[in-house]
Amino acid sequence: KDCLPHLDVGDAFTTLGAPALVPSLHEESTNEASPEASAARQELVDVLSGQVVLMSTESKTGESTPGFAPWSMRYSGHQFGNWAGQLGDGRAISIHVTPHPLDSSKTYELQLKGAGRTPFSRSADGLAVLRSSVREYLCSEAMHALSIPTTRSLSLISLPELPVIRERVETACVFTRVAESFLRIGNFEAFSPPTNMFFLGGGQQDANYDALRILGEWVGKAVLKLDNVNWEKGNPWGKELVFDVARRNAKMVAAWQAYGFMHGVINTDNVSVLGLTIDYGPYAFMDVFDPLHICNHTDEGGRYAYKYQPNMIIYACRALLQALSPLIGAEVQLGKAVTAGWADDASPETITEWRKTGTELVKDEMERIIEETCAVEYGSLMRKRLALRRQEKTDQLQIFQPLLNLMEAQSLDFHSTFRRLSFFRPSHLETSNTPLLEKFVAELLSGSPEENNIDRAKATGEWLAWLEKYAARIETERDDWSSTGNFDQAREKAAKSANPRFVLRQWVLEEVIKKVEKDHESGKRILGKVMQMACNPFEPWGAEGDEIATGELDSETREERR
Ligand code: AMP
Ligand code: MG
Ligand code: MG
Repeated sequence: KDCLPHLDVGDAFTTLGAPALVPSLHEESTNEASPEASAARQELVDVLSGQVVLMSTESKTGESTPGFAPWSMRYSGHQFGNWAGQLGDGRAISIHVTPHPLDSSKTYELQLKGAGRTPFSRSADGLAVLRSSVREYLCSEAMHALSIPTTRSLSLISLPELPVIRERVETACVFTRVAESFLRIGNFEAFSPPTNMFFLGGGQQDANYDALRILGEWVGKAVLKLDNVNWEKGNPWGKELVFDVARRNAKMVAAWQAYGFMHGVINTDNVSVLGLTIDYGPYAFMDVFDPLHICNHTDEGGRYAYKYQPNMIIYACRALLQALSPLIGAEVQLGKAVTAGWADDASPETITEWRKTGTELVKDEMERIIEETCAVEYGSLMRKRLALRRQEKTDQLQIFQPLLNLMEAQSLDFHSTFRRLSFFRPSHLETSNTPLLEKFVAELLSGSPEENNIDRAKATGEWLAWLEKYAARIETERDDWSSTGNFDQAREKAAKSANPRFVLRQWVLEEVIKKVEKDHESGKRILGKVMQMACNPFEPWGAEGDEIATGELDSETREERR
């Protein structure tokens, strides 16, 4: 509708976060707000709700720069293990790229989700409903607060005057998210579809190998900033790009596993080249520990169950490798990077040969990188959760896995168990402390909805055996903590800052959504409060040991919540 000059979104970032910016968006203009401030706020709301189109033709310094208009991206992908052909941003529209306020080497892209149809909407409406928007809005920040790589939330604006037709009529929402890049593995697949798929946009005729090269160079230079490729010298880069994306996603999935996060739809179009958690759909945080838990009710086979997430990241990286394999094969043959028009004269047989060479040369190493990176990162996060400092090769088999087995066997809550363990001290095992230890174990067991069916003597015995190993392991580190003053207190502090007191559980989301849907005004306040908790998950919210209540959520029964 309108052309605005550069909107200084950079300033908004200093108060970003969802936490700070959004309340100000939500606050109704008060009497004290100056007309200019109200107008500026309205302008921001208009842009971030997709009502006004942001266009730039000139830079601030007055130099003429190529202008831009909002854009959506084309991507393809494998969904649930099958080639799905072209997908693309069906309801995501990027509106701006702005320098990162704290790090001048980075830029942030602003993307509206649910602002209407795009060239990739197919038969859908391009809109988003309040429910899914609130879920993404809260969880992106909850993940960031747990130091898990993710796209971020900027704002959430509801459009009550715009009904959205789903199973029932729902409220439309525009959610604005922010990331250095929203590029996905599927963007690569779009230019290099599997050659044996002649339907759904597959096969040689739908490939665009020069576009693949241009995209790859851009991603390698500007997005991943690969530092082991000399671009001026024409170094090959395909392999390095695949390894880098693999490494980043391996770290991401390790953090998912350590924090009990389940994504639910790890299709290759939902896997970021930057290794950011992207596309929050049917995700869930683990409650009672069940390694086979499936959070996506459409995922009947459990492809994306908790336990299989690392494998699904390997699968997605294989899809990236498959897409880049002809280019990597050609680079190997040439001994340097390919240049414009590189595949123009290649016969289908040559391309097949390149694909084969490219894949064979990279696949095993790529998978090894993912497995190793994931194991190392997972180990370091689990050690953090258990306040252990020294890296021991035996930890996985002797400490972590037995702990998870215990949680599974006793149906214990994943997060509460870790939080409770933050308060364990080796001295609990001294004979004089038997009552204290008994109380401690009883508290651990009280985290189980099966509490009344548990064989208490057996369960207590199992815990004692594990706690003894854990205590011995803790003792080996006494010297490592000598500079921190009181050993037990220092460890407890470290553990508490790695084990969230607040977890964005399904029941919390359900209640927030219900409140916001019922009444926008009070709903906004509760949304703000839960956002604040999600952003500060290690703060001592509520009484230790209790389920978290914000004081405003009228939670269902304790059992139901579990
Ligand atoms: P997802 O399973 O959320 O990753 O979505 C799969 C594809 O469907 C993506 O290409 C989305 O952009 C598209 N999509 C989902 N919902 C809508 C919608 N309401 N309008 C248009 N496209 C959509
Ligand atoms: Mg998606
Ligand atoms: Mg989605």
